[in-house]
Amino acid sequence: MNSSFDTIIIGAGSMGSSAAYFLAKAGHKVLCLDRYSSPHVFGSHSGQSRIVRKAYFEHPDYVPLLNRSYQNWRMIEEESSQQLYFETGLLYLTHSGTEIDRGVRKAAQLHSLPLLELKNSDLNDRWPQIQVPENMQILFEEEAGFAIPELTINTLIKLAEFHGAVFKMPESALKWTTSASTCTVTTNHGIYTADKLIFCSGAWSSYLLPELKIPLKVSRQTLAWFETDSSSDFSPENFPCFMIEDSEDDLFYGFPVLPQVTLGGSGGLKIAHHKVVDYVIDIQNYTPQHSISLDEESLLRSILNKYLPGANGRLLQATTCLYTNSPDGDFILDFLPEHNERIIIACGFSGHGFKFVPVMGEILCDLAVKGRTDLNIDFLSLKRFD
Ligand SMILES: Cc1cc2nc3c(=O)[nH]c(=O)nc-3n(C[C@H](O)[C@H](O)[C@H](O)COP(=O)(O)OP(=O)(O)OC[C@H]3O[C@@H](n4cnc5c(N)ncnc54)[C@H](O)[C@@H]3O)c2cc1C
Repeated sequence: MNSSFDTIIIGAGSMGSSAAYFLAKAGHKVLCLDRYSSPHVFGSHSGQSRIVRKAYFEHPDYVPLLNRSYQNWRMIEEESSQQLYFETGLLYLTHSGTEIDRGVRKAAQLHSLPLLELKNSDLNDRWPQIQVPENMQILFEEEAGFAIPELTINTLIKLAEFHGAVFKMPESALKWTTSASTCTVTTNHGIYTADKLIFCSGAWSSYLLPELKIPLKVSRQTLAWFETDSSSDFSPENFPCFMIEDSEDDLFYGFPVLPQVTLGGSGGLKIAHHKVVDYVIDIQNYTPQHSISLDEESLLRSILNKYLPGANGRLLQATTCLYTNSPDGDFILDFLPEHNERIIIACGFSGHGFKFVPVMGEILCDLAVKGRTDLNIDFLSLKRFD
């Protein structure tokens, strides 16, 4: 096989599979490498579900990207005849005036997003499964829900292959160089060249890109699934995704019980603590854990007991997955300086990147092919760290 390509993508996970799809569909000769057989459990995309939402408290500039992402979900679903995004709505339980409470309202207002403010009595009527202390704010975003990461990546890989992309997995990129005219990637199986090189290498990005000089801290996050009681209905038709700000800076999130027959999994309600405390020092030797400490389990149970008592049953499953945290929590999407715009980096997705998968692929394709994108990504560029 010819080993020369228009673009080589390192990483066929969330962002890499999407970039491969958009580039191949645009008629470009693409090679996508992954050190594992993607999708897999060693990076940032395992765990069956990801919240998709638009009222972005992190930064309102993400909203136009999300509008595009939602359009692209629909396009990918149509092309593959596969549902990937499930709209259940998202319930935010917050405290008045916190960063999340203010940020969700601000993003919704700035971008005219439908956001309902509910009272405790509304909640009792609609979702008696959830109980909320009187002093909490209750917001409901209707145009939100969840995506299935493994199914999304599988679908993007199939579509990309259909359009001519070449995937080599498992195959690790070991070394890369650039010259005035080309990029060269050496793997454990061969040497490949291309005009452009895109790094979608997730938690391994600092390791592969030491010249990036931006500290990316990789953290291990725990997810757990609990059995729900038979009297409560936690199915996606009857129960939304949720974010619970138990106290300021202490955020828990979760999902309805996904149907095992169609979407697999353990048939429990998934809940997780969005807190970065457990750092991975040696990413080359990381393996996920499929257990949870007694302390973590009792913390999650205390939240279930307080807000979702009908979901505080047997622990059915637990696992870990990786966040790659940028210094400010915003993504890093840019050309790597001093390589004549041959090297593009998409990393530091900091635990909230999956909902952007369908737009990131398009942007990475634009950057590789045209050297620019019409979407505003200035706030994600490297110059913010100067
Ligand atoms: C527990 C958890 C919960 C999350 N919840 C949400 C959520 O609710 N909503 C949301 O929007 N986002 C969420 N995220 C974040 C989201 O999943 C990530 O931001 C996203 O998956 C990151 O994508 P990525 O492409 O950077 O990484 P990955 O999907 O991990 O892909 C990186 C790929 O690079 C490959 N690679 C690395 N080094 C090499 C090499 N040398 N050669 C070849 N291949 C290589 C890896 O094998 C991997 O497949 C969550 C993440 C976690 C961990």
